Amino acid sequence: MAREDARNAWSAAIPVVPAEVLADIYAHARETYPEECCGFLLGPRDEARVDEVRRCVNEQNRYHALDPERFPRTAREAYYLGGKDLRFLVESFQGPRPVKIIYHSHPDVGAYFSAEDTRAALGREPDDTAEPLYPVDYLVIDAQADHIGGAKLFRWQPQQRAFVQVAEYPGER
Ligand SMILES: [Zn+2]
Repeated sequence: MAREDARNAWSAAIPVVPAEVLADIYAHARETYPEECCGFLLGPRDEARVDEVRRCVNEQNRYHALDPERFPRTAREAYYLGGKDLRFLVESFQGPRPVKIIYHSHPDVGAYFSAEDTRAALGREPDDTAEPLYPVDYLVIDAQADHIGGAKLFRWQPQQRAFVQVAEYPGER
């Protein structure tokens, strides 16, 4: 990923997330509850909206089973994108319909951007030089046992060197 592309993406308008896209990813979060779901939101390159959901496979349990020391968390509290989904993600940045948002759900704990989420987005521990791996925003869904509490969108702020909330969406009973 060229740094130039990344800068352009992060200075772009906040993506518009239509109600039907929200309904679709809320349904995904309900289906995988009490485990985390994850996926991509795509849309036309030259417009500030997303109009397509691509559900990803949360590989966290598989990696946890293979190597519990390196992957201490289960899918109950983490997500991990597999090779096929990562390839789709990277290749989308060259095409007319890039992935603009990576979404995942937080079962029971609320829609905040966790230290683990920051590490996943940076590919390493945050420090003075760490940059996000991909030019995308991150949407976190508040998944509860009997409803969706809502969702929040987070974007990397280069000056603060942190992910900051830039939008919030209503929940669903
Ligand atoms: Zn998370």
